Amino acid sequence: MSTRKVVIIGSGPAAYTAAIYAARADLFPVVFEGFYSGPSGGQLMTTTEVENYPGFPDGVMGPDLMLHFKKQAERFGTICLAEDVKSVTFGERPFTVQGTKTTFQTHSVIIATGATAKRLEIAGAGDGEFWQKGVTACAICDGAAPIFRGKDLYVIGGGDSAIEEAIFLTKFASKVYIVHRRNTFRASRIMADRALSHPKIEVIWDHEIVKIEGDQIVRSVIIENVQTKQQKSCVAAGVFFAIGHRPNTDFLGGQIALEPNGYIKVRPGSSETSLEGVFAAGDVQDHVYRQAITAAGSGCMAALDAERWLSNMGISS
Ligand SMILES: Cc1cc2nc3c(=O)[nH]c(=O)nc-3n(C[C@H](O)[C@H](O)[C@H](O)COP(=O)(O)OP(=O)(O)OC[C@H]3O[C@@H](n4cnc5c(N)ncnc54)[C@H](O)[C@@H]3O)c2cc1C
Repeated sequence: MSTRKVVIIGSGPAAYTAAIYAARADLFPVVFEGFYSGPSGGQLMTTTEVENYPGFPDGVMGPDLMLHFKKQAERFGTICLAEDVKSVTFGERPFTVQGTKTTFQTHSVIIATGATAKRLEIAGAGDGEFWQKGVTACAICDGAAPIFRGKDLYVIGGGDSAIEEAIFLTKFASKVYIVHRRNTFRASRIMADRALSHPKIEVIWDHEIVKIEGDQIVRSVIIENVQTKQQKSCVAAGVFFAIGHRPNTDFLGGQIALEPNGYIKVRPGSSETSLEGVFAAGDVQDHVYRQAITAAGSGCMAALDAERWLSNMGISS
């Protein structure tokens, strides 16, 4: 088995950008794109129009954008494998990356496996129901869409990010309702105060959304009091899950350091993980920005960091 210079794990904006830079630096990257872990192309494969990715003044469909990323990576010789990585062995060098069908030894690894937005199993919220037809998990990405403008929107969650999303949505919505199953926020005091004093935000305590209804798009939600079980139907154009993300790190088996919230720990301002020769990019190491452009930017950083590290180790040629 020949030893690769770099293996990239993942297939979102971070992975393909890392591949473009690595391939152009003659590192002949192999990309494990994933298969059962999610659609090859990452989270943007599950959305429709992306309006904030620079370079596309008229917007671009998420899957089209990711196809462009992949084509550009392949143009410079990247090998893409539609496989999940089952495990990695970082205890010995070169490292071993084991896919479901293919195994490689490699001097360096770039981890770009993203994060998965947590969703609740609410009737009407699933794929093939109203997911991406008014139900979403990213206010910054989708909040400005015409279907949400001037309408009543519902945010599910009680932490800082739920409040941040709700405040962001007030730019577009007529009113934003935060539906929270408890009677206090988990959010910090300052964020809670901001939500409670905002004229366009109303908190619906002790309630859950139990059903989302509509026709082509969301038109209403049924909310239920968790104590009395009393239900009420409310007009709604959008439901935003804001209950956190789960970084995709299970396959690492605890071999590199993670932040307390499960994201990969990187040296600030770099893509370097706790292990030399292992780099991380995109949402798997970013719990703050979580955007396609930031993922792509950090993919570029990871490839440049890997290239420099390989060169310093005398492995670049
Ligand atoms: C519905 C939705 C709409 C969005 N809209 C926008 C938008 O308009 N603008 C914007 O900037 N951002 C948007 N985002 C956020 C954006 O999609 C993410 O920030 C970005 O995709 C993160 O890129 P990434 O490269 O880190 O990883 P991801 O896109 O998450 O891709 C990671 C890939 O790694 C794969 N993978 C996971 N585990 C393994 C494994 N063990 N082996 C191999 N592969 C694996 C996954 O299957 C996945 O394909 C949206 C997100 C969602 C969910």
